[in-house]
Amino acid sequence: DKKCGRFFPKIRKHKMAEETIFSKIIRKEIPADIIYQDDLVTAFRDIAPQAKTHILIIPNKLIPTVNDVTAEDEAVLGRLFITAAKIAKLEGIAEDGYRLIVNCNKHGGQEVFHIHMHLLGGEKLGPLNA
Ligand code: C5P
Repeated sequence: DKKCGRFFPKIRKHKMAEETIFSKIIRKEIPADIIYQDDLVTAFRDIAPQAKTHILIIPNKLIPTVNDVTAEDEAVLGRLFITAAKIAKLEGIAEDGYRLIVNCNKHGGQEVFHIHMHLLGGEKLGPLNA
């Protein structure tokens, strides 16, 4: 058994991270309504808004899902929240409130495999799990 381990490398359980349409948006290779960008994150309006205000805040670095975050990502993950708060104020929705959502994989309903924080607001939102 020990010998076999040397000759049969472990089969990769995880797919390589592949770029999504969001990387093209970050690099401005395809159009998007970008409202904020800095060294770590980019924010743009969702093309299919689920609320009066629906903005996506994403790391410039490709991290496919929340399952892929590591301690090295602390700064960028913190920046997502800081940016959400900044944008909420700019949009004039901070006082009334809003919702931040990060979907992960199938059960979470994740469709784009580049972590994104949904900022939803501008109106009273429905139940969390509707
Ligand atoms: O969390 P989930 O992966 O389901 O969300 C993906 C979001 O990205 C959707 O709300 C979709 O409308 C948005 N989207 C976008 N621009 C694209 C592709 C997807 O705003 N070009």
